Amino acid sequence: MTATDNVRGLTIKQPWAFAIAEGFKTVENRSRRTNYRGQLLIHAGRAVDHAINIVSYSRDAAIRFDELGGRSNYWDAREHIPSQIVSSPPVGLALSGVIAIAQLVGCHQAVDGCCSPWGFPDQWHWELTDVQPLMRAVPRAGALGLWKPDVELMAAVSAAS
Ligand SMILES: [Zn+2]
Repeated sequence: MTATDNVRGLTIKQPWAFAIAEGFKTVENRSRRTNYRGQLLIHAGRAVDHAINIVSYSRDAAIRFDELGGRSNYWDAREHIPSQIVSSPPVGLALSGVIAIAQLVGCHQAVDGCCSPWGFPDQWHWELTDVQPLMRAVPRAGALGLWKPDVELMAAVSAAS
């Protein structure tokens, strides 16, 4: 058994990764269920979903997004102007890097607006707890599905915790 047997990584688009790392979004929407339980590296992918208007999910999340230097368009919420990620972001807004560690503790199929507003219908909701943002993002390329971090990455994550 190695240090990486009980940890997986999950690549998530910004600004969803931000919303998870900052503790607002406690479920991850996936089309597939998972039986994995344990430590989960929250990895921000390279892509940004510019159509996401954070304030439509959480006013507090939008305020925090702005505090970190993003532009949630809080004051223009009704205009649905796409959010922007700043070029040299703090950890929560980073791209292509591990930004937080969480625990994946459960998985259920969406029913009747459960986990609203972050949980989407017709998806599996992966339940996240104990989210700890890192002090700095740890660069890594993204991957599909649950991926297994190597020893070097885990060492870098530990150093950034
Ligand atoms: Zn749910």
